[in-house]
Amino acid sequence: MIKTLKFGGTSVGSAANMRRVAEIITSEGARLTVLSAMSGTTDALVRIAAAAAQGERETVRETLEMLRTKYSTCIDELLTDHRDAARERMERVLARIADETFVYRGEVSDKLILAQGELLTSAIFCHHMQELGHRAELLTSPEFMHTDGEGKPDMARLRRELTTRVTETDKDIYYIAQGFICTDAAGNLSNLGRGGSDYSAALMGVAIGSDEVQIWTDIDGMHNNDPRVVDRTFPIRRMSFDEAAELAYFGAKILHPATIQPCKEAGINVRLKNSMEPQAEGTLISDAEDNAMDFHAIAAKDGITVVRIASARMLMAYGFLRKVFEVFEKYRTPVDMITTSEVEVSLTIDSTCHLEDIIRELRPFGSVEVNRDNTIVCIVGCIDDRHAGLAARIFHSLREVPIRMISYGANHRSMAVLVATKHKRQTLQALNDHLFDCFNR
Ligand code: ADP
Ligand code: ASP
Ligand code: MG
Repeated sequence: MIKTLKFGGTSVGSAANMRRVAEIITSEGARLTVLSAMSGTTDALVRIAAAAAQGERETVRETLEMLRTKYSTCIDELLTDHRDAARERMERVLARIADETFVYRGEVSDKLILAQGELLTSAIFCHHMQELGHRAELLTSPEFMHTDGEGKPDMARLRRELTTRVTETDKDIYYIAQGFICTDAAGNLSNLGRGGSDYSAALMGVAIGSDEVQIWTDIDGMHNNDPRVVDRTFPIRRMSFDEAAELAYFGAKILHPATIQPCKEAGINVRLKNSMEPQAEGTLISDAEDNAMDFHAIAAKDGITVVRIASARMLMAYGFLRKVFEVFEKYRTPVDMITTSEVEVSLTIDSTCHLEDIIRELRPFGSVEVNRDNTIVCIVGCIDDRHAGLAARIFHSLREVPIRMISYGANHRSMAVLVATKHKRQTLQALNDHLFDCFNR
């Protein structure tokens, strides 16, 4: 069985945790291991890039010093024979970041700086595997992970170039690659967006024809609700690709939103596992039928803006919505929720980069209102029209919460409500308390 395993920031966040990762990949017999940067690194690199843009040399220097301490502690605790080689590489990486901040070139420098965490972490881990006596080979992901002008990964090229490196014949080699990073259409170092290592692992796992992609993190699988926000959440043992994709898209941080699609298309199961507790079952995501339970899980996506257009021209007219959507298409702004009445349409967006332009172009259609700081709460389950009372249960639990928008009926898998972000915690906790009784666990 060919397995691709991905480990997130906490899983590789210390020498002790890296030792645990080595045990896991050897006992699982991983063909390909995809690693994030040690936890806190990418945030620190974002701070460095921002300080470089502002010419704040002291912040750059202090943050680099913090990274030097973090990585040299890990190297000293983890390595012996390979210690000097790893330290040399660390100094080269830190010097490269310092050089880049010195001759700061805007976005090109930002991306180059952000890439260094994964490069450094994977190199240290590969040294550790070699010191343990394993055959381990360090791959450089930007050599085979390329994106096009729109930031989409080039799957055909990935398949071609990764399979020449990860060969079928040498089954006892552990291949170690970086998540997150890639080469963009202009040939510069780039990345797949924050939290993108999950997506890297999915794409690479598909490219080498894995039977399973495992995402190892710091929690025992996908929970029924956000454990950072509400009390009494529990792991879900099995879920379908569509449910997992919906939860990830609507904010379940455990998975980057794009992770599931490539695995679903290739029919490759995804397993979510806890590297701190490897024996825990985790969550298996497959094309299995959704189970019969009514409500399975809830996720929330913050930073949502509502745009409401009111126009008498919409009354009994056709083609109006197309014109509205063309404006969003022109500014490459995805729309999440939409509701309509006779003369109004409300829709939500999470990117406000082009909001001013969008409003300007919508004004000729009618009056335009904008409302910020909202959260979409998505309830996923088997919410179909064969059963009466499911919507009633949702709304009964939310009887104390002011609701701004409701979306249901596009599929039988989910219902979404929009609330002001200040009501998010109350909404998630109320749904948790009322929709998941003990028989559902
Ligand atoms: P990694 O660094 O391994 O990629 P992340 O921090 O990106 O890990 O994702 C794991 C975290 O996601 C968990 O620690 C948990 O707090 C958070 N999380 C949010 N929603 C959920 C959910 N529905 N189920 C499980 N974890 C969730
Ligand atoms: N290190 C990157 C980030 O923090 C990618 C990842 O961890 O998935 O966003
Ligand atoms: Mg993550």
